[in-house]
Amino acid sequence: MTAARPQPFPAATILGYPRIGPGRELKRALESYWDGRSTLDELRRTGAGLRERAWRRLAGLGLQALPSNTFSLYDQVLDTALLLGAVPARYRSTTDEDTCFAMARGTDGVAPLRMTKWFDTNYHYIVPEIGPDTAFGLSAAKPVSEVRQARDLGLETRPVVIGPVTFLLLAEVTPGAPAGFAPLDRLADVLGVYERLLTTLAAEGVGWVQLDEPALVTDLGAAELAAVRAAYERLGSLADRPSLLVASYFGGLGEALPVLADTPVEAVGVDLVHGDPAGLGALAGKTVVAGVVSGRDVWRTDRERALGALLAVREHAGRVVVSTSCSLLHVPYDLDAETGLDPALRRRLAFADQKVAEVVELADLLASASAPGSPAVPVSAPAPVAVPAPASASVAVPAPAPAPVGERTGRSPYPVRAAAQAAHLRLPPLPVTTIGSFPQTGELRAARAALAAGELDEAAYEERVRAEIREVVALQERLGLDVLVHGEPERNDMVQYFAEHLDGFAVTRHGWVQSYGSRCTRPPILHGDVRRPEPITVRWASYAQSLTARPVKGMLTGPVTIVAWSFVRDDLPLRDVVCQVADAVRAEVRDLEAAGLSVVQVDEPALRELLPLRRAGQDAYLEWAVAAYRWATSGAGDRTQIHTHLCYSDADQILAAVDALDADVTSVESARSGARLLGEPAVKGFGRGLGPGVYDIHSPRVPTADEVGELLEAALRVLPADRVWVNPDCGLKTRTYGQVEAALTNLVEAARRLRGAV
Ligand code: GLN
Ligand code: ZN
Repeated sequence: MTAARPQPFPAATILGYPRIGPGRELKRALESYWDGRSTLDELRRTGAGLRERAWRRLAGLGLQALPSNTFSLYDQVLDTALLLGAVPARYRSTTDEDTCFAMARGTDGVAPLRMTKWFDTNYHYIVPEIGPDTAFGLSAAKPVSEVRQARDLGLETRPVVIGPVTFLLLAEVTPGAPAGFAPLDRLADVLGVYERLLTTLAAEGVGWVQLDEPALVTDLGAAELAAVRAAYERLGSLADRPSLLVASYFGGLGEALPVLADTPVEAVGVDLVHGDPAGLGALAGKTVVAGVVSGRDVWRTDRERALGALLAVREHAGRVVVSTSCSLLHVPYDLDAETGLDPALRRRLAFADQKVAEVVELADLLASASAPGSPAVPVSAPAPVAVPAPASASVAVPAPAPAPVGERTGRSPYPVRAAAQAAHLRLPPLPVTTIGSFPQTGELRAARAALAAGELDEAAYEERVRAEIREVVALQERLGLDVLVHGEPERNDMVQYFAEHLDGFAVTRHGWVQSYGSRCTRPPILHGDVRRPEPITVRWASYAQSLTARPVKGMLTGPVTIVAWSFVRDDLPLRDVVCQVADAVRAEVRDLEAAGLSVVQVDEPALRELLPLRRAGQDAYLEWAVAAYRWATSGAGDRTQIHTHLCYSDADQILAAVDALDADVTSVESARSGARLLGEPAVKGFGRGLGPGVYDIHSPRVPTADEVGELLEAALRVLPADRVWVNPDCGLKTRTYGQVEAALTNLVEAARRLRGAV
C-alpha cells in the first residue's frame, strides 16, 4: 500500500535554513539560560520568535514549500536522538530541553556525548549512542508543535528529520555492548518509531515529510544498501502517511540511487552542485528535488548552468523542484547586512536569503522554459552549477602562483631533531602545555570593538593586548606549565585573524555561521590570490617570550584549516589555493624562528574535514594536504620544535596522514572520546610526540587530577614516556578563567604525580 493522498510538491524549496538568528539571538538566549540569567520560558520564546521570523521571511521571499523542525536548540542529530527516545539514562532530566543540554554539554560528574564534524563541513553534531538495549520510543512534541506554530501563522510546512539510515550510521555503540553489535542492527526497531512519527504527522494533516539521508553520498557496503532498501520499502509502504522526500546532499547518490529509485518514496533530493547527475533517469516517476543552488558557498549561482541542469533533469526524470544543494545552515543569513564589502566582490555573492531568492527565480524560469519533451539541454551531462562568473572585470582573478609544494622538506629526520630540541628546550618528562588561546574576556572583546569603531587608538589597543599577554604568561608560570603560549588575545578567531592580515581575503561583519551549539564563526571570503604583506603574529609572540625564561610557543593556523574554514573561490583547484596559503604560513614560521621562538604550533584541526567523502580521491587529497603542511613548516631548523593540533577531527581515521605531517608534537582530542585514539593499534607506531587532549574544553566541567592521570596512564601504556605531552583538547578561549585555572592545576598535578613513576 502506498501513500493515501499524494500532494504535489511546490515548485521551489530549500532543504533547511539557519537558526542561530540574524543577530545571533539564539546564542545569547542559550548562554543566558545556561548561566542561570534567564528562564526556560524565555529561551522557548526566543526559539518561537526565531522560527516565526524565518518562516515569514521565507514566505516573503516567495518560497512556497517551507521546511519546519529545522530549528534546533543545539543540534539536529541530537534532536533526532530525542525524537526516537535514544537517550542514555544518565542524561534524563525533567524537561526535554535540559535532557538535550545534558547530552550535549554534560552535567556535574557526567561527561557529554561525543561531538564530531558533520560530513565535510565545519558544523559539529552530537554523536548518538545506541546499544542493544536502547529503548526507542517516539517523542514527537517538537516537530508537531513546529507544524502547529507555523499553521497558526497561516503557513503549511514540511517537517525535516534525519533519516533512519543516516541516524544509525552516525551513531556510536554504547560502551559495553557485545562485540560485533552495530547501531544498524537496530534498524527494524527504529523504523517502528519512524512509522509512528509518520502516522502522527499524517494525523496533523502534514502533506510532506523530509527525511535527510546525507550518509547515502558516502561509500556504502551491501549491508548499508540493504538497510536503505529495507527502510524506504517499509516506510514507503505505510498506509496513511505523508508523502516522503528523501534528501541526499554533500555529493552524489551513486550506488544508493537505483536502490532509492526502487522504493515507493515520492521524492528524492539530489545535490547537483557537488554530485554527479548521471543516472537520474532512474528517478522517472518520482519528484526530483534538484539542489542547483549551493548551500555550501557564498557565490551567486550561474543561472544559465543551473537552468540547464534543471531542464535536463526535467526531461529525464519527470517532475522537478528547484532547491538548494543542502540546508542553508552553512551560510550566513543576509548579504544586505554587509554594507562594508567591496561592491565588485559583493556582486559575486549570495547569502542564505539571496539564495532563497535565486531558488524562487530559477523555479519561475523553469516554469516558463520550454515544456518537457521539447528540445532542450542534453540529458546525459548537465554542466556543474557552482562556478560564478566574475561579475566585474575589476575582480577578475589573476593567474595562480605556481604551486611550491613537495620540492623539499628541509628538516632532518625526527630523531636528529628530537635530540637537538631536547638539548635546547630541556623540558621535563610529560611536559604540560596548552593549545593556544586563553579565555577571551568581555573587556578584550570590547577593546577590539572599540578599536574597530575608532574609539580606541592603535597604541591603546596594543597596550591592552600586551597587558593581557603579561597576565597570561604570569598565570602559566604560577600554575607550573612547561611550554607557554601568549594566549591569542589579539585574535577574534583563529582563521579570521589571519584572513584580516593576508591579501586575497574579505571578512564580514555579520556573516555568522553556526559551528556547534551556541558557537558561531564568521568564515572569511577567500576571493583572490593570497599573499602575506608583512609578519602577522611575530610581535605578540616575541613580546610573550621576552617576559619569561620558559619557552613560548608561537601560534599559527595551518593552510588547510584557513582554507577549510573560509568560503573559497572556485575558479582554482582547492589544492592551488591551499598552496598559496602554505607559502604565507611558511614565511611566518621562519619569521617567528628568527625572532627567537623555539616552539611553533601550526594548527590543522580541519585536516580531516576536507577529506573527500568517498574513498576515491581521499589518498590524492591527503597527499597534497600533507605536502602543503610540510611546506608550511619545513622552513624551520631542527632545533625549533613544530607542534600541530587536530581537534575533533577523528585523527584516528587518518593517523598515517597525521604522522606524515612530520610535526614534532601532535595534540589531538581524546578527553570526550575516552581515549579512543589510544586504543588504536596504529598509535603505537606513531613516531613522534603526542599530546592526547586530557581536558575537554567544550564542556564547563573541570576534570579531576585522577581523571587526567588515568588518561595519561592509558597513553603511557602505548607510548614511550618521552613522547607523551599533557594538554587540553583544544584552545581555552571559550572557558572562564575560574574553570581554566582549576583544570590546568589538575593537569599539572597529574603530570607531576606521574613524572615520579616514569
Ligand atoms: N590555537 C587555537 C586555540 O587555541 C586552536 C583552536 C582549534 O583548534 N580550534 O584557540
Ligand atoms: Zn582544537
